[in-house]
Amino acid sequence: MDQEQKVREAVVSGWAGQVLPSLAGLVEIPALSPAFDASWAANGQLQAAVDHVRDWIASRELPGLRCEAVALAGRSPLLLVDVPATPGGAGRGTVLLYGHLDKQPPAGGWSDGLGPWQAVLRDGRLYGRGAVDDGYAAYAATTALEAVRAGGGEHARAVLLLETGEESGSPDLPAYLEHLAGQLGEVTFVLCLDAGGGDYERLWLTSSLRGLVQATITVRVLQRPQHSGLASGIVPSSFRILRQLLDRVEDSATGQVKLREMNPAIPAESRAAARAVAALDPGAMRRRYPLAEGMVPASDDDVELILNNTWRPTLSVIGAAGLPELAQAGNVLRASTSLVLSFRIPPTADAKAARAELEQILTTDVPYGAQVELSNLAAENG
Ligand SMILES: [Zn+2]
Repeated sequence: MDQEQKVREAVVSGWAGQVLPSLAGLVEIPALSPAFDASWAANGQLQAAVDHVRDWIASRELPGLRCEAVALAGRSPLLLVDVPATPGGAGRGTVLLYGHLDKQPPAGGWSDGLGPWQAVLRDGRLYGRGAVDDGYAAYAATTALEAVRAGGGEHARAVLLLETGEESGSPDLPAYLEHLAGQLGEVTFVLCLDAGGGDYERLWLTSSLRGLVQATITVRVLQRPQHSGLASGIVPSSFRILRQLLDRVEDSATGQVKLREMNPAIPAESRAAARAVAALDPGAMRRRYPLAEGMVPASDDDVELILNNTWRPTLSVIGAAGLPELAQAGNVLRASTSLVLSFRIPPTADAKAARAELEQILTTDVPYGAQVELSNLAAENG
């Protein structure tokens, strides 16, 4: 076998025979990220995920491998794996490979026979929660190191760091990085195994990710709800005032976000990359999501769709309150409406400046002097 065959063989046989069974076990652990499970410490699922992956990695034959579950008081646990350099890879510092073992809460809409905490292998694909985001990371990193060795290659010292708070915004990661700084040593290269790929035909490299600005906005117009037949026309609706405020930040006809801080220039190389990706598989962007019958995407130009999705700001309303369930909707002029606004912002935008601009726009000269409250503000750079 030549080197490439040996690498391929190590990956293919290792993945099917040893990775998939363990990854399937990880899928079945409901390791919700701390933000979605206030009792995560007592429930122990994050620790179970860490232990599950630690046991698998510890069983691998990587010479000198050290595998340690780390838990700082009050912080969600972390798995640290240290693989010494091969003889020819020594002296090149440390490669830090990152992944996470916590999961988003399960969404509905699973097909018959599938479910979030049930690992099902069907037509060569593994279904269940947290295999792709981000359970695969530990296995891909370990398999890659094994494959390099199987092919006779060399690698630098590699440290795999698997946290359990990513889906909550990684609140504990800085403390762990500080705590482990001495053990990490001189990090010369960082690989984050936590992004998507456009297809299964090639290896994909994510060169940028958008940042995030999030806020809950509440518009209050009344001290208590009133009959809509009596009060409407006299008391402006909180929903209508919210629409006006949203029009200040987003063009509702085009989806264009109007904030200056959210619209830095798109680099020329990123436009070129978008054109190259679009040319790989024309129409791929339009086919990517299960659009409702009759629905068309935001643009018929693939390059524009890629740029919209990677370098332009967008607004998604991801939650609402103050609105009753449909069956409970009486003729009431409601006292308030709340929305959770989630902005994706360009990779180079300054998230804190964008958040400040957003706060100013939403709270200045509010129509009819309605009360506006902003809460749960978040700002993360790309
Ligand atoms: Zn992830």
